[in-house]
Amino acid sequence: MKKTLIKNVKLLDGINYFGTPGAVIVAERRIEDIVKDTESISYDNFYQIIDGQNQFLTPAFIDSHSHSDLSILSPFELASKKSSGFGIEIVGNCGLSAFPISERNFANLQKIYQKYPTKLNWTSYAEYYRQTLTNPTGTQIYSLTGHNTLHSCVASYEQRQITVQELKLMQKLLAQSLEEGSLGLSLGLLYTPGRFAEDSEIIALLRTVATYDKIVAVHLKSEGDYLLESLTQMLEFARKAKLSKLHISHLKTSGVANYHKIDRLLEIIENAPRTHGVSVTFDRYPFCQSLTQLSVAGPDKFLNTPDSKIMEILQNSVSECAEFRYCLQQKSADYFEKIILVATALERYQKFIGMKITQIAQLSNQSVADLILDLIKNDSVNCLAAFETMSEKNMRTIISHPLCMIGSDETARPYDYSLGSSHIRNFGTTSEAIKILRQLGIDNSLIIKKLSYFAHKRFSLPLSGKIRKGYYGKFNLIDFERIATHATFANPHTPSSGITPLHDL
Ligand SMILES: [Zn+2]
Repeated sequence: MKKTLIKNVKLLDGINYFGTPGAVIVAERRIEDIVKDTESISYDNFYQIIDGQNQFLTPAFIDSHSHSDLSILSPFELASKKSSGFGIEIVGNCGLSAFPISERNFANLQKIYQKYPTKLNWTSYAEYYRQTLTNPTGTQIYSLTGHNTLHSCVASYEQRQITVQELKLMQKLLAQSLEEGSLGLSLGLLYTPGRFAEDSEIIALLRTVATYDKIVAVHLKSEGDYLLESLTQMLEFARKAKLSKLHISHLKTSGVANYHKIDRLLEIIENAPRTHGVSVTFDRYPFCQSLTQLSVAGPDKFLNTPDSKIMEILQNSVSECAEFRYCLQQKSADYFEKIILVATALERYQKFIGMKITQIAQLSNQSVADLILDLIKNDSVNCLAAFETMSEKNMRTIISHPLCMIGSDETARPYDYSLGSSHIRNFGTTSEAIKILRQLGIDNSLIIKKLSYFAHKRFSLPLSGKIRKGYYGKFNLIDFERIATHATFANPHTPSSGITPLHDL
């Protein structure tokens, strides 16, 4: 049996160890022993010996909010999550999971996942899960059952009320997933077809989850203007279904006009066990920008128009261009200060990628309105921008809250861009969270707990999140003094420093 010794480390999991000097022995991918006195060990017995050089040894981090469902099965070296210390990922979030599949949703799922080379050759969670076990990156994957996938598997994507038989079948398929080990249900009620679901459908499905004493994770219908109403509605659903565990995905107060809602938001969450009989946790990434098409900065009338169509309209009408420009001119200078250009295929703007729109306008001698019009008219389909829609202060309040765990809300990708480009949170979530939490005076062991044990406990994951005999032999070496994020919107696939993953022992 090949054994590995990791010596000269300070054990840190925030549960049993708080920086205790020691060593760990790993065999068959599990922790075989934890040794305090390394003097007594005979070094001849080991296949490899790793000297931790007095760094902290933590369990591999758990990404409590991941979208690697399909990317994880790709034959690439998926560096983003691994380099940032995530060795376990919870997928199936925001209502979208890779199962269950029937002929009703197969074609659409194939379209959603078209950039991945993997064939959708499973139907159930058990079959999907089996394939994740041999993924090339070695990441441990667990999945929620996505409500949108479940609904479409039974009733396709049409906007109509489902029948009693269809609801029964959805409950049966959900129960099967949960029995096969799916962690719970995820909701994305602003996406299709979840947005067509009647309240009674959601409550019935929550009831099924409650029977198995599992968890429901929700991407709230509104994260801004109707944030509190959306949350209260979910709590009502939970109360009616007698659900005990609710989890809010990527908690935020989106839009300046909603920043003030943070205190009330947290108060409702903290009081939920008393008011609605349900405990509530949440996840968050430590960034304040959302990444989307630049065209959303244009007139509202184009919000549901595909980018290719917007280009066609602007290229063929001088008056449409004038209207577009006028609309941009009505927006405040402050609004444009918060937009960063992330991608465009136009050669003349390549040197400005990663800069603020206002800066680019100045450097290219044009008004902000003319700059955006030029980009949208000629390249809307490729123009991506980061919009600072969230409050930095609230983000810090959220991630340091005792009910918050860390989640990237990203898809595992390689260093190159063969599986698309990432938000900086893909490579940067863990380092940035550690940095900010330390700035806020949060104890190292509590920080590690937010990155590992907390998700293990809340989502009932086996054998992870702790340094303990029999648990996964996946760790990170952490040098807190060297922790830094290097991913930028110009170069988002840049790994952080201070974290050394030891995931493949
Ligand atoms: Zn989401």
